[in-house]
Parts: sequence; structure tokens; C-alpha cells
Amino acid sequence: MDGFVRVPVREQDAKERATNFKEVCLGYNKEEAEKEALRCLNCPNPKCVQGCPVSINIPAFIEQVKKGNVEGAYQEISKASALPAVCGRVCPQESQCEGQCVRGIKGDAVSIGKLERYVADTAREMGIKPEGAKEKKGKKVAVIGSGPSGLTCAGDLAKMGYDVTIFEALHEAGGVLVYGIPEFRLPKDAVVKKEVENVKALGVKIETDVVIGKSVTVDELMEKEGFEAVFVGSGAGLPRFMNIPGEQAMGVFSANEFLTRSNLMKAFDENSRTPIMKPRKCVVVGGGNVAMDAARTALRLGAEVHVVYRRGEEELPARKEEVGHAKEEGIIFDLLCNPVEIHADENGWVKSITCIRMELGEPDESGRRSPVEVPGSEFEIECDAVIMSLGTSPNPLITSTTKGLEVNRRKCIVAEEATGQTSKPGVFAGGDAVTGAATVILAMGAGKAAAKGIDEYLQNK
Ligand SMILES: Cc1cc2nc3c(=O)[nH]c(=O)nc-3n(C[C@H](O)[C@H](O)[C@H](O)COP(=O)(O)OP(=O)(O)OC[C@H]3O[C@@H](n4cnc5c(N)ncnc54)[C@H](O)[C@@H]3O)c2cc1C
Repeated sequence: MDGFVRVPVREQDAKERATNFKEVCLGYNKEEAEKEALRCLNCPNPKCVQGCPVSINIPAFIEQVKKGNVEGAYQEISKASALPAVCGRVCPQESQCEGQCVRGIKGDAVSIGKLERYVADTAREMGIKPEGAKEKKGKKVAVIGSGPSGLTCAGDLAKMGYDVTIFEALHEAGGVLVYGIPEFRLPKDAVVKKEVENVKALGVKIETDVVIGKSVTVDELMEKEGFEAVFVGSGAGLPRFMNIPGEQAMGVFSANEFLTRSNLMKAFDENSRTPIMKPRKCVVVGGGNVAMDAARTALRLGAEVHVVYRRGEEELPARKEEVGHAKEEGIIFDLLCNPVEIHADENGWVKSITCIRMELGEPDESGRRSPVEVPGSEFEIECDAVIMSLGTSPNPLITSTTKGLEVNRRKCIVAEEATGQTSKPGVFAGGDAVTGAATVILAMGAGKAAAKGIDEYLQNK
């Protein structure tokens, strides 16, 4: 192998993994990681760092991997990221750090994501923890939501010496990392829980089962509970539906509900008390990462799965790696078609879905070619479950119970990009609650920016 080709990463065999929930990617071992690290050219002006939304000093951590110094590599990454084992698994590196790597011009980009994963996993096995704050500031900050934006903001503030409490509505911390992304891409006990524990080890307190806007409001946190600033990282968990006839039938789910049952409530496990429908033949509507996760989960529960998407292969918004994995596992892609009606049997359960073929017309405002229906091309797919994966919006609970918090027409909180400052003094926001559904690393970037914004605000207060 020469320097142009990356060290391949080991994966579970496609046929075998399609029947289990164990992790698909097995990651690098020491020998593979050190060999891949040697491909990094340690550029004087590293473009990869510019491509990383949290600006990890990538060449510096890879230099430590080359030397076999995992602790050094981990502390280098931890200066910028609270969730390296998560990001090493789910970040779209191909369009970020690896997309900028000069190695990619004439061959494969350095496998930065897999190296990050190797460092984080090995550091965890060795019991290495990130370094915390030396001095306390004696000021309380509340963080709403324990997803990537909240965990990052809380971790950074704790490192600066603030007394931080995260309030989480669910019974477990992690946001989409625990309830959305499936076990076979992101193990919960072995990875997510451990990175949440690292954030706690910095001094962050996490109170679960607290729904802000119901249990207590943002205004009460600030006026009665002594929090001098609040970060809202409540995500975008409200699913959208198509509003087509038959969508109320039993056996029609939002991807969020289906995945929450499986991931957070462990419904795939025979011993779980939460039920999940095990479809025989399932149609997943949508083409993003969430659709791939829902489809691959339904497949593992034993279904034949069709992904119905209104544009073509090129336009699929999911990561290429995820689409490739889904295809290898046997998911069927019905592209350039769109559902028009869902049919139910006499008991009200889904029995089929009518779709219409589409073709791509002129580009819309986003630059993507708009799908246009082909008249008379309707066809039916027999199925007993339909999973709608059409995107999500922020839940209005917090914004509707907080005085003076401005939202835009998509119900997203309006906040400054550089600081997370909202229209309400002392209240900051970031992640999906501000941008709408996006990515883990963008949410982390927003959490980081807000931590700096909160620090400046509290220092000047
Ligand atoms: C199935 C799925 C797969 C995905 N796959 C990828 C991927 O591969 N790569 C990638 O980069 N991104 C992926 N994403 C997107 C990514 O997970 C999100 O962009 C990211 O998690 C957003 O982080 P966040 O902190 O803004 O919000 P979230 O992760 O949504 O966390 C918000 C938290 O706030 C809590 N909360 C909400 N309201 C309240 C309230 N009123 N009181 C208290 N707590 C509250 C929620 O319970 C939740 O825990 C995926 C998303 C989904 C749904």
C-alpha cells in the first residue's frame, strides 16, 4: 500500500450485521491507526482544521498518534471537543476536515474521523479523562437539553470555572445521540454514556426528567433559582408529516418515534417493556440520515424495507457511507417517486401505499432540481408499516413560555452565530433549536460559541 490509499477500516460482514444491532464499523487497532497517521503530511497551513466546525488541531493530535502517545492525542482533541468518540463515528468528515485534506487531491484523504475514534476509544479504555477547571467562578449557568450543543456548552463553561447544571426532559442524557442514532452506528453504554460521564467529571450536574416550560420556566430559573445565564440547546424534535390521505392509519410512524422506541427504550430487546412493531414489509419515506437509520433499524427487526425518495441517487441527502451501508444490507431504494395515499385494511392497519413517479425539473431557490410528478404514473407498494422521515422542527414549548425570546417563521430561536446571544438578555441558544435539524458537529460548534458568549456576558455583567 502506498501513501495515496488509506488504511481500510474493518467492518462487520453485511449479511451478519443486517440481523443484529452490534456496531457496524469496528475501527482501527493500534497498528492500523499508527500506519494511517503516517499518511498525514502535517501541513504548515492545515486546511483540515478550517474544515472542522470546532477547530480541533488535527495535525497536532495525529502527530501524537504517530508517536504512539494516545494520552497526548486525546488531551489535544479534548481542548476543542467534548465528544470525540461520538464525532469519530457520526461526523460527515468527507465534507468537513477530510474534504479539505491535501492528501485527497491525488488519492484518499487521511482517515481523520477513524483516527479520532481510535484515540477516543483507546483513551477511554485506558481511563484517561479530559482536564477540568483549576479555579471556580461561583456563578451559576443553566443549560437546557443534553444533546451535543448542551453538553459542549456545559463542558466548556465548566472548564472556565462556572457552576453548570443541565436540565434534560428525558430520563437519559445525550439528546439525539441516545434517542435517535441507532446502537449499530453509535453504541450507547460503551460510547455515549462514557462521554456524558466525562462531561460530568468536569463538574457539570445533569438533572434528568425536567421539562423546561412545564416543570419550571426559563424566567423562573433566572429570577428564582439564581442562574445568571441560560443556554437553550433543546434541539428540533418535532416530526413533520406529509398530510396525505390515510396518514392516520395504524402502522404509520414518525422516524423519531420508531427510533426512540428502539434506541432509548431498547424495544428491539425481547426483555424491554416498551413495545415496537416488527414490520413484515416497511416503506420509509425520505432520503436523509434519519431515513437511513429508520430503514436499517426496521431491517434488523426483520422487515423487507423500501426507501421512497422523491429525488434521485445524486440528491440523496444522507451521507454516502450510510447509503452504501444500507444498500449492502439489502435496503431497496425506490428513487424518483413520492407517496400520495396510504391505504388501511378493515381494522385500520396499513396495507399499502400509493406512490407516483417523479422527474427532476428546474432548480429551486436551494439550487437543487425540483421533483415534478409524472401524470398517470401511480403505482402501489404493499406494506404493513410506513415510517415518515421528512425532517423535524423545534418544539415551541420553551419559546412559548419564555418572555421576550424571538423566533423566526420556522419557529427556530433567533440567536447570533458568533455568541449564541438571543433577543433576551442572559439567554443564549444554539444547535438544532436555532438552525433546524443539522449535524452533531455544527451543534457542538454552536455550543462552544455560546460558552464564549456567556463568559463574556457574565464577565461584563
Ligand atoms: C436519527 C438521527 C440520525 C442522525 N444522524 C446524524 C449523523 O450521522 N451525523 C450527524 O452529524 N448528525 C446526525 N443527526 C443530527 C444530529 O443528531 C443533531 O443535529 C444534533 O443532535 C443536534 O444537537 P442539539 O444539541 O441541538 O439537539 P438534540 O440532540 O436534539 O438534543 C436536545 C435535547 O434537549 C432536550 N429537550 C428538548 N426540549 C426540552 C425541554 N423543554 N426541557 C428540557 N430538555 C429539553 C431533548 O430531550 C434532547 O435531549 C441525526 C439526527 C437524527 C434524528
